Formats: sequence, structure tokens, C-alpha cells
Amino acid sequence: MKQNRKDFLKTSGIIAAGSIASAFPASFFAKSIIKSKGSKMKFTFKPYTLELKHVFTVAVSSRTTTPVMLTEIEYEGIKGYGEASMPPYLGESQETATAFLSKVNLEQFNDPFEIEKILDYVDSIAEKNTAAKASVDIALHDLVGKLMKQPWYKIWGYDKTATPNTTFTIGIDTPDVVRQKVKEASEFKLLKVKLGKGNDKEMIETIRSVTDVPLTADANQGWKDKQYAMDMINWLSEKNVLYVEQPMPKEMVDENAWLTQNSPLPILGDESIQRLSDLIKMKDVYSGVVIKLMKCTGMREANKMLNLARSLNMKVMIGCMTETSCAISAASQLSPMVDWADLDGALLIKNDPYEGMKVVDGKVTLTEYPGIGLKS
Ligand code: MG
Repeated sequence: MKQNRKDFLKTSGIIAAGSIASAFPASFFAKSIIKSKGSKMKFTFKPYTLELKHVFTVAVSSRTTTPVMLTEIEYEGIKGYGEASMPPYLGESQETATAFLSKVNLEQFNDPFEIEKILDYVDSIAEKNTAAKASVDIALHDLVGKLMKQPWYKIWGYDKTATPNTTFTIGIDTPDVVRQKVKEASEFKLLKVKLGKGNDKEMIETIRSVTDVPLTADANQGWKDKQYAMDMINWLSEKNVLYVEQPMPKEMVDENAWLTQNSPLPILGDESIQRLSDLIKMKDVYSGVVIKLMKCTGMREANKMLNLARSLNMKVMIGCMTETSCAISAASQLSPMVDWADLDGALLIKNDPYEGMKVVDGKVTLTEYPGIGLKS
């Protein structure tokens, strides 16, 4: 009877654990088990300073460098790369990231494919620290994609050819400098304009004196009066502006909701919507969301926000900080599913240590490299 069953398993191709064991010596299994238990993820990080090509001015500050942390997770000889970009006004720094990342112990996990479990743990280490958390998330996604030998847009099932054009940001400056920057940006099909410094109409008129390309506007919470904001949005809608980001301070929820209800243009929440839980709260306040890996702890949560926003019929823009091609390439994996992209961050820096997603003729162009798409 026993013999018959064994023959059946053999001929039918069904292999039971017992029959494998009988085919190999016990020492073989002992070695395999030890090897898989001995494989640990090694996590390392180092500070790096991005040097900007131009002084970067938004409604609240100006600067010429951006501090980042570069991270690595090594597993069975394969390295995944990550990054935290920390513009000073967002509250993280190389010091806070060092303190946070020093607590991250990935050696307790044997299987890098347990992304949800690992990143739930990383998220639970401390509140906030969203960029530092993203640097672990991105490195883990890069590693897992490399282990699968596939880029994430493919793993998620997104269409590589459906990527959008990226905007290129024209910072607030004097009319002469603005005109010069616009001329240098002739490759781009969309320009993003930073507003909210009191010279809004002058900025737009200056750009319109040299180009007719569609514009997007980001007030960065700079408008404090709702009627002024409404008048500006109406005026912008006649200047071929496609949408407005964060018109008023995030605390002014009712005013932002009123603008959304009355605006001829989509109104996107950026500073108001950091993470998935904010998107749920703000779904009726804005008609769209700006998703950034550094705000939402990385690719895992960004993809959840993207899919939730889609199901709520909200517009989606994927944005960035000034970042290397590492974080930009990670964000670009989601870009086939968005309405708009603002992924110019790596183009603004002089010392990018990575090569990944390229902007070709103004369009986000994904690579075939596995993981987050970096050339290694
Ligand atoms: Mg913004």
C-alpha cells in the first residue's frame, strides 16, 4: 500500500516533502537551512549634500544646497539603494535622520519580500521622520525588485509608455532671471510656477512674454485671503494654467474647500496631504493630491495613496523635493498612473551620484533596470 502511494506521487509529478527528503542526504538540508537563516539584510546610511544649480526660492525660504541621506540594504550580495531628501523647512535634517536610521534593525527579518511587515516596523519606530522612513522603503523596494529582476512599474502592472510629461519649476526671481530660466527650459512641455510672494501676476506675465506652454501654479500656502485666492485662480485659468497647488495655508480647511468648490481649475492639496490618513480626511477639501515619497514614507504608501485617490475620482500629481536620481527614479515607477508629474528634482542639482529615469523631450522616461530603475 505504501509502495503504491509513493509510485503514484512519482508518476503524477506531485512531490511531497517526505519524498524530497528521502532523495537528498540530511547534510544537504542542514546546510540550506543554515544559509537561509544566516542571510540578513545589512542596512547602512551616509549623509550627502546636494548642490543646486540655481538658488531655489519658494514662498517660505531660499537655499543653494539640500541635505540628504543615502541608504543601502545589502542582502545575499545584492544592494538596494534609497534616499531621504530633507529641505530644512520640512523639519528633518541629517541629524534627525541619523538618530532615526540608527534605530532601524533589519537584521531581525530574514525575508526582504515581507515588505508590509518590515515597513510597518520601520513606521512604528518613531512619529514623523517621513523622509528617513522613505529612505528605507526605497532601498527595500530597490532590493526586492532586483531580487525579482523586474522594475516596480512592471511588478505593479503599469504601462511604461503611459508616463506623463514632467513640469520644470521656475522659481521666484527677478524678471530678467525668470526669462532666462524659461529660455533654458525650452525642452519642457509644462512649466511649474511658484507663486505666493506678492508678485504673482508679474511672474506669470513675465513667463508669458517668452512662452505659450501650459503652466501649473503652486502657491505653497502663500495666499492668506480667500477672495484674493479666488480672483487669482480665475485669472490663472485664463492664462493656460492647468491646476493650482495648495492655494492657502493647510490649517484653513474651510477656505481651501470653498476654493475647490468654486474654482474653474483643479485644486491640489500638497502641504495638507502628507500621508494616506490625510488623504482620507481631505478627500472633500481638494479635487486632487500631490503625492511625494518624502512626505508619505515611500513607495509602499505612495502606491496606496495613488490607488485610493483614483478610486475617489481625485486628480493625482506625483512630485518631489530636490533629490538625486535615486528617489526620482523610485517616484517615476508610479508615474504611468498619474495625471501630472513634477519630477525635475534631479535636474536641479550639480552632483547627482546616480543614473536612472531620464527626462526625454520633456517626458518621464523609465528605464528597464530592475528595482527602482537605477543603472548600477
Ligand atoms: Mg507644492
